Amino acid sequence: MKEEAIKSYKVPIEAPRDLIEAYFEVKRKALREVLNHVAYSQTGKAHLNFKAEDRRKLRNDLLKDWRYSKHYIDSAINSIIGLVKGWIKLYNRGKAKSKPKITRRTVYIKNTLFSYKNGLLKISIEPRRRYLEVDLRKYEYLPKDFDSIGGLLLTESELIITFRKLVKNVKPKRWASFDVNLTNITALINGNIIRYDLKKLYHFHRIYEKKRKKIQKFSKHKPKTANRLMKKYSKREKNRAKDLMHKLTTKITRELADLKSGALLENLKNIKSRILNKSRDLNRKLSKWNARQFQFMLEYKLKWLDLPVKYINPKNSSKACPLCSGRMATYEGRLMKCKKCGFIADRDIIAVLNLQMWGSGVTPKALIARLRAMMGKRLVTKTYQFL
Ligand SMILES: [Zn+2]
Repeated sequence: MKEEAIKSYKVPIEAPRDLIEAYFEVKRKALREVLNHVAYSQTGKAHLNFKAEDRRKLRNDLLKDWRYSKHYIDSAINSIIGLVKGWIKLYNRGKAKSKPKITRRTVYIKNTLFSYKNGLLKISIEPRRRYLEVDLRKYEYLPKDFDSIGGLLLTESELIITFRKLVKNVKPKRWASFDVNLTNITALINGNIIRYDLKKLYHFHRIYEKKRKKIQKFSKHKPKTANRLMKKYSKREKNRAKDLMHKLTTKITRELADLKSGALLENLKNIKSRILNKSRDLNRKLSKWNARQFQFMLEYKLKWLDLPVKYINPKNSSKACPLCSGRMATYEGRLMKCKKCGFIADRDIIAVLNLQMWGSGVTPKALIARLRAMMGKRLVTKTYQFL
């Protein structure tokens, strides 16, 4: 199976508001109907009893007075069935709060509804008479080296376009490893330890946390205002944090592309998520957010350039001595010392060293000799500031 890389971009558009509104209403109707077909067993488990004939009936109902392309009805029904099935899964695990609702005015446009030729995207709104045309050549930031366009998502002011590209299996010249923490990302790239400073991102999250706490205080008296402010601030916080991660991962991707280097990342599924998911603590949530965003963005950006990403089980990555496999114990602050050979190093550096050796099978001897001579001091060769 060939692997695909995917990138999504937004372009501003004059949206067909009538279609967006009609699609929104159709989804609400479809949701009411599909929810009527959720049945519960004697043990209280939910399941969906929606047969092909139910679907046909719903489709015919929805097509009455529908002047837009018929494919929109099919995609609305599919997305509603997906939504309800997702809800049933949560419900059966005891995790569903309330029944699903349609809140977003977005239209999913599958590839049967648009054509793409010479930079021009032509989306069918009403069959054979009304189209939305978007000239992608006007937007310089869009990728030019893609193989196809996947689905489109239409919002009230933007079109979100997914570009696809087939990934070639290229063997990288070398591997870089990354360890993501709350206030920094430590990397081992081409034999050098590099640290990307996330302190400003961290402080900025704390400022928003304070704002949220303030809002919570008056949420009892003014719930509507509180809700609106909360949404506004959360969105702003997320967007600004994402912006920063984009800048950082783009910069790292360029460096790795120059070096023809793949990336070794910690597989968070195994260990960290188990501890982190249960925690309500803001710091843990934030370091989880950092790690997921960083890995997600770096992975698709590297894949787009045919550079591989490998996930390594991080078990004991900051506890095993990279020189002799002895056990490292806390020494001083973030420093760890090997009980067997006496090697001292910062725990993040131990983690990237181990990830690199486990993932690539290569020992960075020159670096280790340097670290050994320094005995835990002046470990970082370069620090990048962000924001
Ligand atoms: Zn050792």
